[in-house]
Amino acid sequence: MRVIVVVGAGSIGSNIAYHLVHHASFDASKDKVIVIDREGVACAASGKAGGFLAQDWSDGTPLQSLARASFKRHAELAKLLNVDYGYRPMDTLHVAFSERGGKKSVWWLNQDKVSRVSVMGTTSNTAQVHPRLLMNALMDDAVKNGAQLVLGTVVNIDTSTNTIHYIPKDASTAEETMTYTDIIIAMGPWTGTASAWIPNIPSSINGFKAPSIVFKTSDLPQMVSPHAIFTQISMKGKVASPEIYPRPDGTVYICGECITPDTLPPSPADVAPSPADMEELKKLAAQVIPDVAACPVIAEQACYVPVPPGNVPVMGRVKGYDNVYVAAGHTVWGILNGPGTGMVISELVLSGQVTCGIDVSGIMDGGVFAVDE
Ligand SMILES: Cc1cc2nc3c(=O)[nH]c(=O)nc-3n(C[C@H](O)[C@H](O)[C@H](O)COP(=O)(O)OP(=O)(O)OC[C@H]3O[C@@H](n4cnc5c(N)ncnc54)[C@H](O)[C@@H]3O)c2cc1C
Repeated sequence: MRVIVVVGAGSIGSNIAYHLVHHASFDASKDKVIVIDREGVACAASGKAGGFLAQDWSDGTPLQSLARASFKRHAELAKLLNVDYGYRPMDTLHVAFSERGGKKSVWWLNQDKVSRVSVMGTTSNTAQVHPRLLMNALMDDAVKNGAQLVLGTVVNIDTSTNTIHYIPKDASTAEETMTYTDIIIAMGPWTGTASAWIPNIPSSINGFKAPSIVFKTSDLPQMVSPHAIFTQISMKGKVASPEIYPRPDGTVYICGECITPDTLPPSPADVAPSPADMEELKKLAAQVIPDVAACPVIAEQACYVPVPPGNVPVMGRVKGYDNVYVAAGHTVWGILNGPGTGMVISELVLSGQVTCGIDVSGIMDGGVFAVDE
């Protein structure tokens, strides 16, 4: 039996699991996929992100091919998964707000303060998903097709015996082990900690914290139109640029930057939004989307954007091993690039090469990730 273990059930781990069990050479009678996560599916950034997707915003970078293929794959997945997880193409605007005002835009923006509007994307090249619902749909499908989800914290990986040591989440403190034939580390911003077990994994993979709030807007007399809004707010002597995503479930998501940066805690369960960040985000919302900001708040949250040592995610086989892989450090595009990453890594593991047509030349070299510490 070939046992492929994926550590981490975020966007990257869930997409890898889905694409492994759907790979043409996957045979459930001979191959087994186990996903292990310390808290649960999409418990970190992959459940709290905006879920915005852009086809061509990575053009001219090493991620161009990955992003374009991922954008296309999102549209395919929306049909294949047959679950409503809020996938929809949408228009995208950049809107500048200042005391000067003078311009008009969609009704739910503060018309008195809109000073410039430009189109960043249309329904042909920008879209959105509800990330937590998508990751659950992917994992549910993977499990239906033979994958197994284990809740537990990986505390060591012994590559000399192909053994994972983990502590199950179900209150037991006893360490358990499982053996693998192949292992994929997809621990998001926590991936750097895996360098203690596998030294060729860059220890500098880390994360930065970002806060977000979700408003329930379904009781507003008028529907919030499906426009993603990238803002530039220059008011009251301050400049800020939160992003705003209305969702088809009658909510509006807004995320911004932390005014109180924090270091990555050991577990996603320990990530909490700071009251100051929540207050600041609500203030910004009141300035630019006053009707929305007056609606009930249904989530106040924070999460860590995974940051790689270079400009590209760390994706591929780990140098010195033929059965250890990494997929992490997808920055602010891990929801977009999850499907393409799933396609690439599943092919690399099951057939030894990338044949799906995604150009990975700027990301890996002969299947080995191209990033150095
Ligand atoms: C506020 C915000 C908004 C964003 N908006 C967008 C957006 O609109 N579009 C977009 O494309 N991207 C967006 N992103 C980026 C995106 O969320 C991330 O790139 C993506 O979620 C990373 O996925 P991941 O699977 O690598 O990591 P994570 O989601 O962090 O998942 C890592 C998983 O590993 C598990 N894990 C860690 N250590 C262990 C261990 N020792 N044992 C077992 N399990 C472990 C964790 O429990 C976790 O579930 C946003 C990010 C933030 C913070």
